[in-house]
Amino acid sequence: MHRTLSYPELANPMVRPRFTGIPTFMRLPYVEDLAGLDIGLVGVPFDGGVTNRPGARHGPREIRNQSSLMRRINQASGIEPYALCRIADIGDAWVEKPFELATAHREIEGVFTAIHAAGVVPIAAGGDHSVTLPILRALARSRPVGMVHFDAHCDTGDDYLGSKFHHGAPFRRAVEEGLLDPKRTVQIGIRGPINDRDQWRFSYDSGMRVVPMDELYDKGPHAVIDEARAIVGNGPTYVSFDVDGLDPAFAPGTGTPECGGMAVIEAQIMVRKLRGLNLVGADVVEVAPPFDPSGATALVGATMMFELLCVIAEAVAQRKGK
Ligand code: MN
Ligand code: MN
Repeated sequence: MHRTLSYPELANPMVRPRFTGIPTFMRLPYVEDLAGLDIGLVGVPFDGGVTNRPGARHGPREIRNQSSLMRRINQASGIEPYALCRIADIGDAWVEKPFELATAHREIEGVFTAIHAAGVVPIAAGGDHSVTLPILRALARSRPVGMVHFDAHCDTGDDYLGSKFHHGAPFRRAVEEGLLDPKRTVQIGIRGPINDRDQWRFSYDSGMRVVPMDELYDKGPHAVIDEARAIVGNGPTYVSFDVDGLDPAFAPGTGTPECGGMAVIEAQIMVRKLRGLNLVGADVVEVAPPFDPSGATALVGATMMFELLCVIAEAVAQRKGK
């Protein structure tokens, strides 16, 4: 049975040229009523937590634009998400007071709390990585989740310039708040120069599995993700994809680029191998279009959102017995 919403461009994407119309995520219908939806693609246009170059607030709009290139079926895995689940673009988790970091996070948490309460699994497009904390507050309130985290940075830093909630610290806060189980957390692609040898001590001390980029390069994506699967197990698992985990050759449009990173194909292989896990949500963050006028970074962001959508649609369909 085909579960697509009634929407002509999705029912047959070949009918209408992809460069026409108002861009939504994946050319999906834009809906505000969450009733009956399984998965919602949602923008989080907020970058008040960046420590270097801003611009990720423009990520959702440009990812939507580039995502018109995504098609129906994942050629590698064969997954057709729209045949498995009811999926829509549910708009932006925008905030009324974007210059107030802590209250902005509360506003974002409120939007995701409503999404979660409606039984909709969110796949978010950031925004900077600080937004994952309010997302986890909404999704993991009743029990901590595990996480597969792709990034150049562990984002388990301490207070920075007087703030606890910048984009380099969401996962330290998430552990402290009981939202994230560090022993079911894997951080992949970590690299770059640091000012303090203990920069990511919290990750190690709390029991997270940190996979530095060198180790990923030596072992390859299959071995790394096989271990990650064993670590997160069957429990509820969130996936957070910071686009700066990729090499700046693939994703120059980001706030904190680090050379020597993943190729897109390595990231795709690893996300595809998340099939069968109990996935409860995901995000793609730190796409900053002003630093990449070519749109290539936003295209990568849209591509990784589609990869995540495929494995999450399969997980949701399995949970619902479809
Ligand atoms: Mn990050
Ligand atoms: Mn990062």
